[in-house]
Amino acid sequence: SSTLEIRGLHVSVETENGPKEILRGVDLTIRSGETHAFMGPNGSGKSTLAYSIAGHPKYKVTSGTITLDGEDVLAMSVDERARAGLFLAMQYPVEVTGVSVSNFLRTAKTAVDGEAPKLRHWVKDMKNAMAELKMDPAFAERDVNVGFSGGEKKRHEILQLELLKPRFAVLDETDSGLDIDALRVVSEGVNRAKETGDMGVLLITHYTRILRYIQPDFVHVFIDGRVAEEGGRELADQLEAEGYDRFLKAATA
Ligand code: ADP
Ligand code: MG
Ligand code: MG
Repeated sequence: SSTLEIRGLHVSVETENGPKEILRGVDLTIRSGETHAFMGPNGSGKSTLAYSIAGHPKYKVTSGTITLDGEDVLAMSVDERARAGLFLAMQYPVEVTGVSVSNFLRTAKTAVDGEAPKLRHWVKDMKNAMAELKMDPAFAERDVNVGFSGGEKKRHEILQLELLKPRFAVLDETDSGLDIDALRVVSEGVNRAKETGDMGVLLITHYTRILRYIQPDFVHVFIDGRVAEEGGRELADQLEAEGYDRFLKAATA
């Protein structure tokens, strides 16, 4: 069992007008097997948290800590974070002309595991995972992210998740832009990865609808760079009914 722990995290981004503080003291503890829904209005800093965990160079941690079983994640390079078992869906958002999905995934798997997967097993695993995600086998031969639709990007994300088998996954708005069928398929993929790997999940979302398919153990309401309230599933139901207004008013009062 593992623990990903965030303590007093303050993060700034560099803007034209100098540094701007976006995360203003975030505390969050995720253990293996737990799913945490991280919910907040647009611009509250959810993606900034995801990028900070990923080690994106644009986001400067000015104070606080992120540790994985006591190891200092902030001292790790992006690759080291992946090898330590952190999966960040937005880690490779770029288009990679000339690199097929199949090659890309095998390279990523090799990097994460420290050795290349046996080719025969790998091909079978990939085919199975793609079939379960209802992906056309031809998708494996396409260039990474080149001309991918929103739905294809999300499925590719979950395909990575299922094949790389991380200890912790940060999924940033995996539900955005998905129709209801794609949402179900993608959610089932996350649930499979949870069941087979005892994976911890930080599920960042603006809407509650994905939580009908991926059941959270904890819900955190994020307002203006801070966790404003925490609870169980009932908090998501409350958000669905009432929206963020109450929390926004409390934050500006
Ligand atoms: P969310 O994911 O909750 O919508 P973000 O983390 O994307 O929020 O953004 C939080 C705030 O930080 C917003 O006001 C956004 O404009 C600002 N921000 C995020 N990234 C940058 C950046 N690279 N440069 C300037 N401002 C940024
Ligand atoms: Mg946003
Ligand atoms: Mg965002």
